[in-house]
Amino acid sequence: MTAQVLVKDEFLLSRILSRQRAAFDRDGEPSLAQRKADLRKLKTAVLARRSEIEAALNADFGNRSAYETRIMELVPIVQTINYLRRNLKAWMRPERRRVAIHFTGARAYVVQQPLGVVGIISPWNYPLSLALIPLATALAAGNRVMLKPSELAPTTSAFLKRMLEELYGEDRVAVVTGGADVGATFASLPFDHLAFTGSTAVGKLVMKKAAENLVPVTLELGGKSPVVLGPDADFETAATRIAYGKLANAGQTCIAPDYVLVKDEQAEAFLSAYREAVAKLYPNGIGSETYTSAINARHLERLRDLVTDAKKKGARIVDVALSSSANAQSLKLDPVAILGATDDMAVMREEIFGPLLPIVTYHDIEAAIAFINDRPRPLALYYFGSDGDARRNVLTRTTSGNVTVNDTLMHYVQNALPFGGIGSSGMGAYHGPEGFKSFSHAKGVFVQSRWNFGGLLRPPFNRLTDMAIR
Ligand code: NAD
Repeated sequence: MTAQVLVKDEFLLSRILSRQRAAFDRDGEPSLAQRKADLRKLKTAVLARRSEIEAALNADFGNRSAYETRIMELVPIVQTINYLRRNLKAWMRPERRRVAIHFTGARAYVVQQPLGVVGIISPWNYPLSLALIPLATALAAGNRVMLKPSELAPTTSAFLKRMLEELYGEDRVAVVTGGADVGATFASLPFDHLAFTGSTAVGKLVMKKAAENLVPVTLELGGKSPVVLGPDADFETAATRIAYGKLANAGQTCIAPDYVLVKDEQAEAFLSAYREAVAKLYPNGIGSETYTSAINARHLERLRDLVTDAKKKGARIVDVALSSSANAQSLKLDPVAILGATDDMAVMREEIFGPLLPIVTYHDIEAAIAFINDRPRPLALYYFGSDGDARRNVLTRTTSGNVTVNDTLMHYVQNALPFGGIGSSGMGAYHGPEGFKSFSHAKGVFVQSRWNFGGLLRPPFNRLTDMAIR
């Protein structure tokens, strides 16, 4: 992009931000009724335009079944809006705090105040829900929003722009489309908060830009989320739930199980359970309509390179789909298991984000814990097993954004749980009351009374001043 176009972008984006901030200052914070109406409007529009949404996502992926879009995007959006509407009143209520004894008579409380204008940058893998869930949360907290969706899902991004600006007007919600250049300009705006969902590498760039204006950030990033199979895990159930988590959206899920840690003598048993599970979920292999395509040829090529590299360095590649009769144009990749993957292989160093499942063996559980702790902190960790002590051992000695026990992905759809990463998988959280708080300023208010012992803290001092030191 030329420098002239970038200057124009910067000017346009700054102008939208100034207008939104002026409107925020003019109108003050929205009432409970207004926020609930805003959220209802969004839910109604999303449900009314369901088929348009399913078609947009299908166009962006080349093949994304309506079923997957419904379960993985529409359900979480609608459930989030319902949850926000149900809890908003309680969250907006000022929270009384105690005052010290020498201030008896005075009052202290905390109000959750809207921040002003929140910037949101979203990725392509769930291009609707990862834009609308933070957006709904920021609106619930009383903010105005500028959204920059992903250029890799252009049909969905254009749809978001049409729908949101029609619903709210650009002064309340503005959608800015474009690629990395526009993203970088967007991240350099002096927002009141910036929420970014995307890769760890771009997250670092975004945080640097935000730091120049001291803009606080929520970073929802990626990484390699491990599955630990305890020795007592039920392999049939575990394999089905791992296959679902791995192959939903063809592995293009930030919290997809990235690799499995299994006890050495159980690896073959797990592999055969995994093959059976995949065959049941996708009876026509990648020809199944519900099996999603890679987002583009470059991404598909990256995944193929990971397999080639692992094979060249001695890993065993096992095709886990029974039959694979996909149209060559559809950018669908055969799911494979990778046995004997080692740290010198790219597949064990970078986030996979595709249908490849390395199966790594451990001799005792201490080695599995050390394996996880030797790597950057993951966004999610999955543990399968029934023994409570064994589970507690793994959960207390590893650190991850979230955990699901005896399943995969499911912590994400628990509306009341915070969702976020830690270390290189991110910072801050949305979902649950934590989401509302991420987009609010907790303002402490102290209301002095006409008379109390607080005056003893001012000169002239006397013996009673010591009361405050007790
Ligand atoms: P990405 O980081 O390439 O892009 C994300 C967004 O950032 C896009 O809108 C893009 O245009 C924008 N962008 C690109 N360069 C930028 C820059 N220099 N400055 C500002 N913005 C810029 O990520 P992606 O490929 O769209 O998504 C995949 C990644 O996102 C994976 O790593 C995945 O794990 C992660 N992810 C995380 C979560 C989560 O909730 N933690 C959810 C989904 C995806």
